[in-house]
Amino acid sequence: MNPETCMACGSSKFSIDPTSSERFCLVQCAGCGVGFTKPKPTREDLEKHYSQTYYGPENVKFLPVLEKIVIWMAKRRARWIDKRIRPRSRVLEIGCGRGVLLEALSHLGHECHGTERSDLAATRAQRIVGIKVYTDPLEQCGLRENYFDVVILWHVLEHLENPVPTLTHISNLLGPHGILIIEVPNVWSWQARLTGKHWFHLDIQRHLYHFSAQGLNKLLERNGFLIIKITTFSWEQCPFGALQSFLNCLGLQPQTFYKLLKRELSLPFSSKLFHYSLAGLSFLPATLLAGLESLAGRGGVIRVITQKQSAH
Ligand SMILES: [Zn+2]
Repeated sequence: MNPETCMACGSSKFSIDPTSSERFCLVQCAGCGVGFTKPKPTREDLEKHYSQTYYGPENVKFLPVLEKIVIWMAKRRARWIDKRIRPRSRVLEIGCGRGVLLEALSHLGHECHGTERSDLAATRAQRIVGIKVYTDPLEQCGLRENYFDVVILWHVLEHLENPVPTLTHISNLLGPHGILIIEVPNVWSWQARLTGKHWFHLDIQRHLYHFSAQGLNKLLERNGFLIIKITTFSWEQCPFGALQSFLNCLGLQPQTFYKLLKRELSLPFSSKLFHYSLAGLSFLPATLLAGLESLAGRGGVIRVITQKQSAH
């Protein structure tokens, strides 16, 4: 990778973020703030991080209570999307994971298709009646051009090796005036700036790109999408992102609380109690920060609704 010019704004000035970790560093465009991870994580690195545990044992990602909350939030997100698209739309979600969002959209009457590279997650998604799931790389799925009304990239763009060709391909798959909905972590959010390399959503070993609102805007416009709406708050991502980032700053093992919720760690009861208590104490300040930063337009995520321009 190590591009000579920024894929979003074309600038050739980059700076290395001083908060970068030892092994990987965050290189950011001086023009628009879009960053990339250097050196590019190897395929082995990425595979290690997308291990079967990424989607949880038995494909249940979180503790049972949280799993219910996650499903409830996916339904809520589906209703949010449903209000912004036509009834009975043809929807494609790229990187659909276990298919929870598509399942909810399908119940709302939309025709749902998904792509997912993780076999385990795809297997779960494929079991859902009425959803077609493809496991090949996007370009090789044989999807019909000009067919889809809506394409969704939910916390996926930052993982892609080549976002620009993917956006071109998405544009071809979308029919005239098709909608593209994207959410990515916001590297220019207050929580990211305040907590630096401890920022939960930085995930520098897995995220190949790091977006600013300005940069994402430019990238989409350069690739034939018209921005309809851009916001920077998500109940699912922002308060928790701030909370886990605060805990990471305390010098504890990074992401411990998140790993406990995901059942990736088993700790003695006293240790669990300690982590849960700290998280409880951080909840209010984290939620407050998440609210304030988004009011200032600098929330923890960037959520964009765009429309394919007719010329493309
Ligand atoms: Zn740039």
